[in-house]
Amino acid sequence: MKFLRFQILSLLALFICALPNAPSYALDVETVRIGHHPDKTRIVIELNSFVDYKAFLLNNPYRLIVDLPMFVWQAGETDPPSPSGVTDIRHSAYQPGISRIVFDLDNPYTIKTAFMLPPGQNSPRHRLVLDLQKASLSEFSGGLHQNFGTLSMENIPAPPPVSVERHVPAPREKPLIVIDAGHGGNDPGAISPQRILEKNITLALARQLKEELEKSGKYRVKLTRDRDHYIKLRERVELARKWGGDMFISLHADSIGKRDVRGASIYTLSDKSSDAQTAKLAAQENRSDIIAGVDLSHEDKAVANILIDLASTHTKNQSHYFANLMVDEFKGNNINVLPNTHRYAGFAVLKAPDIPSILIEAGFISNRKEAELLAKEDYRLHIARTIRKGIDTYFMRVHQNEQ
Ligand code: ZN
Repeated sequence: MKFLRFQILSLLALFICALPNAPSYALDVETVRIGHHPDKTRIVIELNSFVDYKAFLLNNPYRLIVDLPMFVWQAGETDPPSPSGVTDIRHSAYQPGISRIVFDLDNPYTIKTAFMLPPGQNSPRHRLVLDLQKASLSEFSGGLHQNFGTLSMENIPAPPPVSVERHVPAPREKPLIVIDAGHGGNDPGAISPQRILEKNITLALARQLKEELEKSGKYRVKLTRDRDHYIKLRERVELARKWGGDMFISLHADSIGKRDVRGASIYTLSDKSSDAQTAKLAAQENRSDIIAGVDLSHEDKAVANILIDLASTHTKNQSHYFANLMVDEFKGNNINVLPNTHRYAGFAVLKAPDIPSILIEAGFISNRKEAELLAKEDYRLHIARTIRKGIDTYFMRVHQNEQ
């Protein structure tokens, strides 16, 4: 009996001693995102390192298979959005050294493209991007024998050593907030009944917001204009992109024929104009600088377009998210707002494909009372502080999501 216990204990000790030497796999699947687009379903698998993969289709039932080096699933439960075409997501260890993600599909699809994307401005992680396209049965059958990626049993890399620092985020630069005071110079913007000019309100508010943000010690701030001169809308966006802005906020004060209308509103780019502009940008500009950190000069045109699309879809989502947080902040701080405070329009200044952008109409300058308020330093300071709180919340949430 005593002997047996000793044996068990030594076995136990052996087991515990062996633990540190057990194979430790450093690959994490951090999140899985599925986006439904008119022409495709896009699956983005976020990973903590750059790895080889193999993606292919299986029949009966229709499935997309993604094999990766053995991973730890950190993505939790991912509910595929309907109607994305993906009905369920499963994962398991498949073979020694290889883990498998299975996407159940509701219909035949083909894999349009699959590629790895290194971390960039819009995501600190490596991403495996897969685009699926609805297909006929014969197209599906044709795609059955096609493999994307080259992962196989023979070329599984030795698992990278797990380092203690792995989850400690690298110190980063403070986010750069670009504040854009609307109008200026020859363009006064809206004019109040008592002849208060929008361009002066926006500049004053921009300066106060800059001071508030800098005082917090959390941000770098740049103004597109810090004096009374006009800058073209397109140039404002270009400045923000040239500086590497992390957020773009354009400040305005509204005007309308009905003099009793008042209240602030927050705009993001409407989908339609956004997409048209994205297409134009893709054609016009040097592709390599559109997505920071991704050198597209060696990519073919289709992939470059996908990357731009990916960046702008992500940016659009971030902008909407930010606008909604800002609306809550305005309401919570008793700033008079318009009904349906978050609105959509094709403002040219909101068209950076890679910087979350919002436009704030701080109030109606066509309303005598609101114009008077906006001309007051105290009231503008209240608005500036509210905007700062909205920015704080946004970056806090983004940060949480990245950890
Ligand atoms: Zn304006």
